[in-house]
This record gives sequence, structure tokens and C-alpha cells, in this order.
Amino acid sequence: RYYLDRIGQTKHLNAYLEVFEEEALAKAHALDTRIKNGESVGALAGIVIGIKDVICYKGHKVSAASRILEGFTSLYSATAVERLLAEDAIIIGNLNCDEFAMGSTNENSAYGPVLNALDNSRVPGGSSGGSAVAVQADLCMVSLGSDTGGSVRQPADFCGIVGLKPTYGRISRYGLIAYASSFDQIGIFGRNIADVARVLQFIAGPDEYDSTASNEEVPDYQIVHNKSWKIAYLRDALFHPGLDEEMKEGYTRFFEELEAAGDTVTAADFAYLDYVVPAYYVLTTAEASSNLSRFDGVKYGHRTSLNNLELADFYKKSRSEGFGKEVKRRILLGTFVLSAGYYDAYFAKAQQVRRMVVDKLNEILSEYDAIVMPTVPSTAFKIGEKTNDPIAMYLADIYTVLANLAGVPAISVPLQRHSNGMPYGVQIITKQFSEANLLSIAEHAM
Ligand code: GLN
Repeated sequence: RYYLDRIGQTKHLNAYLEVFEEEALAKAHALDTRIKNGESVGALAGIVIGIKDVICYKGHKVSAASRILEGFTSLYSATAVERLLAEDAIIIGNLNCDEFAMGSTNENSAYGPVLNALDNSRVPGGSSGGSAVAVQADLCMVSLGSDTGGSVRQPADFCGIVGLKPTYGRISRYGLIAYASSFDQIGIFGRNIADVARVLQFIAGPDEYDSTASNEEVPDYQIVHNKSWKIAYLRDALFHPGLDEEMKEGYTRFFEELEAAGDTVTAADFAYLDYVVPAYYVLTTAEASSNLSRFDGVKYGHRTSLNNLELADFYKKSRSEGFGKEVKRRILLGTFVLSAGYYDAYFAKAQQVRRMVVDKLNEILSEYDAIVMPTVPSTAFKIGEKTNDPIAMYLADIYTVLANLAGVPAISVPLQRHSNGMPYGVQIITKQFSEANLLSIAEHAM
């Protein structure tokens, strides 16, 4: 009831697309009765969770915040959702986001923008903006988002909360609507590390429905305290001209604090930072153009009401009506970079860049426990500030896309408040499947 009341009082934030009020209350009452009767309950009993509108929950609407999926109901639940329910978590509703998880501000939703609860004239970040604001404004305890190039860490940074993107393959993608399949990963938002670790514990692990879900055993995500860590910061990230000056000073002070606390903090040269955004947008738009071809007006959701069209025109019309501007931009870009005449110049080249980035990052991670760097080069943008300049918007993803290109886990934890009143965070990156270390270092950094 507490969360339902809070949701009712904060409708202007536009965080929830749908609230499962009766169902959530019924589940809470049933759990209450079971506890009173001395029956055992799951490990997440009573934990109230919101899910991003790209994650399927059987019998509930899912639209990827797109008109093209208007009215579509999930036929099955995502593995992550199944596992939450199996541990008696209460799923309270689905959360607004950028259409098909494409964006950095949550301004691309067919259902309107989400507002940052700290300053309503600013964006919450994206694409999982609703998931971030739901935790920020206390409209649920924990939420799920998806992170293809930063969509959990970036809004967590803008909203002053914790956002984890696990290793690629750590959480099954079964039931997650695909944007770019070799990058996508379900992520977790929380107010603290313990909550995030607890949820990860139960939703991670192998899944016969997703061949890219890893068979690597899920360790106990116990947070280790009082340990000193070997940390690297990327010189080219800290001295990047795009980074806000005041934030740069904040990170420098933070590194000094870590050293004072007994960690070693060393500068490392990465050298490829300026190539990561172009490589990311070539590869993800290519994958998206293929993934989104299934939305043809026949199989799902929206279909044009015009009759007597030739089949090709019927597809074109349905897709033109159903997809928003940013999604169309990316389908066009992706189709272009995959086209015969340009494949080698763009797609193949970007794959080579990806390989170089992975090798370099792994080389650094083999020498250090973690890389620590900014999550985003600035604090939350004003609403509308970057909407007419997609390139500027894409470039702001410079620090987050790295972890997705390499498939390594990364987390954003709140660091400080900027003099403009907005929070900003610090990002921590570790080796593949080292979430246990990642969470401990994150706790240590908070
Ligand atoms: N901002 C990035 C993009 O628009 C990240 C999106 C995401 O992680 N889903 O592609």
C-alpha cells in the first residue's frame, strides 16, 4: 500500500506505464497469511519490484514503449521474472522507457517522457528512465532495466542511485525484447548494494531457453569489507575534453580518498576511447535493424488500418505508423551499415574495433581488480536539451558503451552532488563474472 500510495502521488513523473494494483495487493495479503500461519516463504518475499517495459510478464501488457506493440500481451514470462516470482517477490508494475530501449533520456517513449524526481525540468536518463525514477522516488524497492550501452548505469547516475549491468550472459535474456542481442543484458536498480546483490543472486544463472546465458556457477554475492583493492583509472577517460570540469575534480578527489583508504590507484592508458561510440552505434543499429524486422504488422501489435495494400506497402505503412523517429533512424542506419556496398567499411570495421577494445580492456583488467571511471561526462540534461542533436546525445554514451562492447560487468554508484544540485556517480568495471568483487568494491566506494 505504501508504494501504491507513492505511485498515486507521483503520476506526473510518468514512471509507470501500468500498475498491477490488485494483483500486487493480493500477493502481499497471501504472503502475509502464509507468514502468519508459519509457512515458509521465498527469499524475496515481499520485495516490491518494478520492471522495464521490455521485459515480458505473462498475461501482462508489454510494449517496449512503442506504438507498434500497442495492446500486445506477453505470452510467457522472462526467466528473470519467473525467478523473482519463484522467490515470492511482488511485481508491482511495468515502467516507462525509451522506445525499444533506444535513447539516453527517456524522451523517446511513445507514452511521453519520464521526469527526474530531483528536478522535474531534467531528464532521468535512459533508456531505463522509468526504472531509475521508480527507485529514486521510492515507488518500489528495486527495479529491473536493460543495459545495451549504458541504459541502467546512466540513469542510475542521473538519479543518484545504484545501477548494475552484469556480465553478458549472467542473467538470461529470455523474455527480454531484443535491441542488440550481443550487447543486451538485464540490469538491476537499487538504493544500496545489498539490495542489488540480493536480487542478482536469484535471477542470475544458466537458462535452457537462452543459449547465451552462461553456465558459469552463480557464487554467493557476499560483500567483502575491509579489503584493499588494486584500482586503475583510465587516463583518457579522466582527461577527456567532454568531461565536466567540476566532476573531473570530484573524481580526482575520490581517487585520493581511495588511496587514503589503502587502495592503490594507478593511471592506465586505454587509447581507444574515441572509437567506442562509433563502433557501438554501427554494431547495435545493425543488430537492431535485424531484430526489429519481426515487427511487420502481421505477427504483433499495431497494423495499419488501410486496406487493399500490396504486401510490401502493408509492411511499410504498418512500420511507418508504429515506430517512432529514433527507432526509424536506427533501422535506417543499421540497414545502411549492413548493405553490400558498405559492409566492409562500417560493420566489419566496427567488429575489428570491438575486438581491439575487448583485448585492451581485458589486458588492463588482468592487472587490476577494477577500472574506476566516470559513468557519464555530465549531470542530467535539461528536457529537450539534446533532442535535436542525436550525435551529441550518442557521444554522451562514451563511458558506458565500453562494458557492453566487452561484455564485462559494470556498476554505477552515487558519488557526489554537483554545484548545479544534481547527483553524479562513479562507474566501476571488473572482469567477466567477477560480480562478487564488483559489488564489494562498489560497497567500499559508497
Ligand atoms: N543510450 C544508448 C543507446 O541509445 C544505450 C541504450 C541502452 O543501453 N539500451 O543505444
